Amino acid sequence: MLCCPEPTMVASKESREGEVHVLMVAFSAQGHMNPMLRFGSRLVAKGLHVTLATTDCARDRILKSLSSTTIVDDKKIRLEFFSDGLSVDFDRLSHMDHFMDSIGKFGPINLSKLINDLSGDAHRPKFSCIIGNPFVPWVADVAAQHNIPCALLWIQPCALFAIYYRFYNQLNSFPTQPNSDSVVHLPGLPPLQTTDLPSFVLPSNTFGSFPKLLSNLFQSYMNKFKWVFGNSFYELEKDVVESMAELCPIRPVGPLVPSTLVGLVEGGDIEVDMWKPEERCIEWLDRKPVSSVIYVSFGSILVLSEKQMGNIAMGLKNSDRPFLWVVKPQDNTKPVGLPAGFLEETEDRGLVVPWCPQTKVLDHPAVACFMSHCGWNSTLETVAAGVPMIAFPQWTDQPTNAKLIVDVFKMGVRVEPDPDGTVSKEEVERCIDEITKGPKSEELKRKAVHWKEASKMAVAEHGSSDRNIQIFVDEIVGKHSSSPSMSLHSIDDD
Ligand code: UDP
Repeated sequence: MLCCPEPTMVASKESREGEVHVLMVAFSAQGHMNPMLRFGSRLVAKGLHVTLATTDCARDRILKSLSSTTIVDDKKIRLEFFSDGLSVDFDRLSHMDHFMDSIGKFGPINLSKLINDLSGDAHRPKFSCIIGNPFVPWVADVAAQHNIPCALLWIQPCALFAIYYRFYNQLNSFPTQPNSDSVVHLPGLPPLQTTDLPSFVLPSNTFGSFPKLLSNLFQSYMNKFKWVFGNSFYELEKDVVESMAELCPIRPVGPLVPSTLVGLVEGGDIEVDMWKPEERCIEWLDRKPVSSVIYVSFGSILVLSEKQMGNIAMGLKNSDRPFLWVVKPQDNTKPVGLPAGFLEETEDRGLVVPWCPQTKVLDHPAVACFMSHCGWNSTLETVAAGVPMIAFPQWTDQPTNAKLIVDVFKMGVRVEPDPDGTVSKEEVERCIDEITKGPKSEELKRKAVHWKEASKMAVAEHGSSDRNIQIFVDEIVGKHSSSPSMSLHSIDDD
C-alpha cells in the first residue's frame, strides 16, 4: 500500500479526473504514524488516493521500516516529507519544548509549500480533504489557507477527547488543589477519582509543552475541523461517544490496529517500527503451553525506576509462570534496571527482549495476559487480540485508559501502588494471580474475547467504523450533502 518517492518531495503521479485525493499529516512518532497509516489504508481500500506527509527527521526510519511492506497492485499511500525547521540529527526528545516551538513555527510554512508543489498545476492532485492529528493542530490553518476542508484523527480514546474538551473549555469542574480526593462526574463516563484522570488536567502537572498544546487544540482549533475521527469503535465507547454528539462529535473509525488482528484481508499490514522487533519471541512462545505466559511491556517512552523494575522482576519470579518482558536497553547493550542475577535465575521460564513484535505476541495462544502501561495503541491491540490486561498506568492518558479497561471494558485488573507511587512485588504477584486464577479470571477472559469479536465486527463491511469511514468518503466524493450534521455514530443511524 505504499509508494515512497525518492528522494525529492515532488509527486509524479498525474491526477486523473474523478480521482479523490486526501492528504494526511502526521506527527512523526510511531504512535501517531501507525494509526494514520492504517486509516489511510482503509481510505485507499474505499477508492481514495492518499498521501501521507510527515517531518524530514523521520524519513530514514520510516523508509527503512516500510521498505519491507507489501505493495499491493496499484493501491498506494504516497509518502512525502517536510522540514520542522531543525536539522535532521537534532535531539528532539531531549529538547521537546524547543522542538514543538519549531514545528509550530516552520511546519505550517513548509507544509504549505509542499501542498503548492503537489497541487501547483493541472496534472497534480487537488486535495479534497486534509487530515491532521493532535500534535499538529496548525494543519487546520494551512488547510484553510488552501481552501481545503480539514479533519482531525484523535489517537487516544474518545473518553480522553471528551475529558480534555470539557476541561479546556471549562464545562465541568475538575480538581483545583493538588492531592485533592474529589470525584469528577462527566457524562458518558464512570465517576473519575484523581488517580483516574489524565495527568495533564491535574493541578500538579508539570509537563511543559503538552498541556499548552492540548489547551490550544481544544480552545482554538476544534471549530476548524469539519470532521473529528477517533481511533476507537462505537461499541467500545458508546456512552462517551454519544455524550459528545451535540457538543463536538467524534466519529470512531477504529480500532486502527494491524489488519491481521481484526481479520481484514485487504491491504496487508502497514506500520512503522521504532526498533527492530525480536522475532525469536514467537518461536519461544510456540514452546509454551496455551494461556500460560505473562507478557509485560511499558511501551516506547516510559523508563521505570530501578526500584520499580526490581519489584516487577521479583513479582514475576515469585509468580512462577513463564513471562516475556520487553525491557529497552539504555545504551543498546544491556537491559536496564534488572536486579543482579535475575536473568540467570529465571532463564528457564522467562525471556527479556529489547523490543518484540507486540501484535503477533498478543495474538499468540500462549499469552495469558498483558501487564501494560496502558498506552492507547497497546490497549487497542489488546482489545483486538482478546487478551485480559493487568493495568499498570503511569501518566498522560494511561490512568484513564486503566479505568476504562477495568470499569468500562471490564477486561482487566489494575495494580494498586504504595503511597510512594511504586507498585510492590507482592502487588505484582497478586494481580498475576487474580487475572490468571482468581474468581474473576474466567469472566475477564470472556469479556476480552467479546471485545475481540466486537473489534472485528466494527471494521468489517457495514460495521460501525466501516460505516463511519464510508459516510466520510461519500461526503468528500460528493455523493451526499456536506452538512456537518451528518451521521456520526454507527448502526443506530440507518
Ligand atoms: N510495541 C512493539 N514492541 C514492543 C513494545 C511496544 O511493537 O516491544 C508497540 C506496540 O505494539 C504499540 C506501540 O509500540 O503499537 C506502543 O504504543 P502505546 O500507545 O501503547 O505506548 P507509547 O509507546 O506511546 O507509550
